[in-house]
Amino acid sequence: MKAVILFSGGLDSTVLAQQLVQEKADVRLLSIHYGQRHHKELQHSTRIAQLLGLPHQILDFSSLGKLLSGSSLTDDTVSLPEGHYAEESMKSTVVPNRNMILLSLAGGHALSIGFDTIAYAAHAGDHTIYPDCRPEFANAMETVLNLADWAPLRLHRPFVNLKKQDLVKLGHKMGAPLNETWSCYAGRDLHCGKCGTCVERKEAFSLANIPDPTKYET
Ligand SMILES: [Zn+2]
Repeated sequence: MKAVILFSGGLDSTVLAQQLVQEKADVRLLSIHYGQRHHKELQHSTRIAQLLGLPHQILDFSSLGKLLSGSSLTDDTVSLPEGHYAEESMKSTVVPNRNMILLSLAGGHALSIGFDTIAYAAHAGDHTIYPDCRPEFANAMETVLNLADWAPLRLHRPFVNLKKQDLVKLGHKMGAPLNETWSCYAGRDLHCGKCGTCVERKEAFSLANIPDPTKYET
């Protein structure tokens, strides 16, 4: 497998990168600045790529955020919700059509360098809020990627039916650098501990019964 991984520097995509390294895949990491409030994750993506010894590119699409207003992740005028990841209020963190945009960019890059796979780490815990993490979306996206070019392109999404705590267990077992990963949507110096993805992260370590290496503000 020759795979471009959509790599945020978060826990999920880090476990995916570690897994493909274990599987001896030819891997390149692609991180994208799409104007996200928590672009701090990109610094973490660089550090993790170095630790894994993988080629890594950061694409600066930061002005994209201006086109994707209305989401609390890309629009500073929308406040970031606190609470559980699956709550209705978390819908404000959906970035319009984000994964189709990012996967399209990763797909174009994969085709241009002769790779046969793009990979993303959507998991079952994302399904409640994020339509573009669901199996139906991934299946349709793979179909359209294959219609868009002569070369076949696989959309690898091995975690689509796994829960976040399963990824923590898997990453821990493989020795993935979970302590270097960044989740928090607030993007301050430390994880805030209150936003949806911080709450989800804490819960996943707890349910996996693995010590959480993260320093939280609260
Ligand atoms: Zn947070």
